Amino acid sequence: MAYAATLIPGDGIGPEVTAATVSVLEATGVAFDWDEQQAGVGAYEATGDALPEATVASIERTRLALKGPLTTPVGTGFRSINVRLRQHFDCYANVRPCETLPNTHGPFEGVDLLLYRENTEGLYAGIEYFDERNQIADSINRITRTGSERIIRYAFEDAKRRGRKRLTLVHKANILKESSGMFLRIGREIAADYPDVEFDDRIIDNMAMQLVIRPDEYDAIVTTNMFGDILSDLMSGLVGGLGVTGSANIGEDCALFEAVHGSAPDIAGQGIANPTALVRSGEMMLRYLGEDAAAEAIRQALHDVYSDPSTLTSDLGGDASTSAFGDRVADRVRAVL
Ligand code: NAD
Repeated sequence: MAYAATLIPGDGIGPEVTAATVSVLEATGVAFDWDEQQAGVGAYEATGDALPEATVASIERTRLALKGPLTTPVGTGFRSINVRLRQHFDCYANVRPCETLPNTHGPFEGVDLLLYRENTEGLYAGIEYFDERNQIADSINRITRTGSERIIRYAFEDAKRRGRKRLTLVHKANILKESSGMFLRIGREIAADYPDVEFDDRIIDNMAMQLVIRPDEYDAIVTTNMFGDILSDLMSGLVGGLGVTGSANIGEDCALFEAVHGSAPDIAGQGIANPTALVRSGEMMLRYLGEDAAAEAIRQALHDVYSDPSTLTSDLGGDASTSAFGDRVADRVRAVL
């Protein structure tokens, strides 16, 4: 049986890293029936719509998508397609693991962190007002009990399933007493249902400092939308940068898998982008589908390929092209399985 899945190559380096990722996924032997669709600036230029109806209809049907990065015009233009997709499909849990691979020259060895970020509300919900006359701009930080309960419960359930020992809730309840305060209160309530997972909390600014000093003291982290966005990039920096971190957006019956990095216009079209982030997202997609052996083969293959620094892409000091690197990982996957 082949899994029906929507494939969105995206903008900039997207098509390059997507092609490499598809070849690695194919090497696992798990079959996908890809429905390739457009989104982003490329789709806007081609169709006048940055998120064409056909793309949404495809995901409505498959409930599963692998997506390259999309360019979002800054400040003006259309709203982020990534945010629209996550909201439309109500993918409320953004899961971002950060694990050290060999030769990535991060500041630490052996980092193994897991971040759960609420994905649909808070400051990124897009509730904004602009008072032209008085030149006042408002962005509403709306946190709901329902939204908080489902992300915190998801984090506990998933952390428990993955054998994680500790979950740290990150907030700013000392200042944002209502929004962050409620998120923290709900975390404490739900923690009572999970006696096997140690629960504690940290204020966001302290957490940012703690993670760059002693990341090994932390295990799994759950937080609201904007704090999670910033912390997840910080965590990518602990393990070698944006080119190596995958990401999953999970809803009740739909999941979108994407790289953490953007469309990298500075290196697009040169065939030098590192596809590891999207490959890791593909690994997460396999785990989501219950294809654990295939997912583990990709994880092992990445560790093996990264052990030889000469086979890496230029962001990590090697000189491999995107496709050559993808081919090496795919070959290694076949050897591991
Ligand atoms: P970016 O992640 O595209 O690039 C930041 C830096 O990291 C650049 O120097 C880039 O060359 C490098 N980089 C990123 N991915 C890499 C990879 N796979 N291999 C090697 N180097 C890599 O961030 P940006 O420049 O702030 O954003 C560019 C565009 O991407 C913007 O339009 C932004 O809105 C969009 N963006 C999209 C997503 C997404 O689709 N999920 C995420 C972030 C940014």
